[in-house]
Amino acid sequence: KNTFLFVRAKIKETTAITVTFKSFFAGQFSAVDNLNHYDFLTQEKERFEIKAILGIITYHIYWNTETEGKIEKHIPKRISNENIDKYKYIYHDKEGNEHKICTVEWHKTKEKQNGIIYSNKPTHSKITKDNNVIEGDTRRRVKYENGDIAEYGRHPTKGNIWRLYKSTGKEIELIRMPDQLDYRKNNIKIQYTFSQTQRRYTGPNVLAGFIGALADCNLKLVTTGSCFRDASCFPSSEHVNGKSIDTLYLDNVDEQKFIDSMHKFGFNKQITGAHKKKFNNAIPEKIGSLHDTHLHSEFKDSTIQIKNED
Ligand SMILES: [Zn+2]
Ligand SMILES: [Zn+2]
Repeated sequence: KNTFLFVRAKIKETTAITVTFKSFFAGQFSAVDNLNHYDFLTQEKERFEIKAILGIITYHIYWNTETEGKIEKHIPKRISNENIDKYKYIYHDKEGNEHKICTVEWHKTKEKQNGIIYSNKPTHSKITKDNNVIEGDTRRRVKYENGDIAEYGRHPTKGNIWRLYKSTGKEIELIRMPDQLDYRKNNIKIQYTFSQTQRRYTGPNVLAGFIGALADCNLKLVTTGSCFRDASCFPSSEHVNGKSIDTLYLDNVDEQKFIDSMHKFGFNKQITGAHKKKFNNAIPEKIGSLHDTHLHSEFKDSTIQIKNED
């Protein structure tokens, strides 16, 4: 927690003209000659804010300009043990207030390629697991020795299919999204709920972008999710590694506002239905009707600026 304190410092023999505090608080003040002590911050409004060392990797999501959001991932020098598998998300509003939105856990898994359709169960590699599941639209999940995953179920437009998500072998991080966000303070609203889907995992960067967009548009969204725990994403192909998020449509005016906010916070590839209104910053799908029910938004990881703290 942040707290406030008055500081009296003893001045030893020194020729320094400024005093710099390090350790658990920071700040710089002019020293005063010929005194053996100095009361800093003697007036009420000069209170000194102490910030505890968070020791947690934190995404700072900034309101920036009308057209641009800014997201920084701050990595502290020391991460406390209990925070080693956690990420924290803080939103900074127009007035410079900080809003603590959530802390989530991350885990490692193998990166997957976009899913390829099969009519029969793929048998290209030794099967290590073959389970019936009920997770979103997935009814069966097969895991292979080489790290690939195949999923079976009903696709909204293609009927019953298999999709094979090939592993690239590379390790990636995924987080489990909070089951909902319902943050309301002053004029800031950051709200979403999930529809039935179980694709509740996503990339850590993607959640930061989503939080920024939700705050920016001030609208409540329903998401049909991103990806499963091990980066697969049936029935979709292009949600692997949690790179994309789907959301149910709002009315046309609010939808455009949301698309623009997502665009501003790093979702640079958005797909809308062929039979929907033509929106700015989104590409209408050419074939089929898949996206007539939901907006697809893919996040560009290079939006995030990484800062190593000292
Ligand atoms: Zn979709
Ligand atoms: Zn999608």
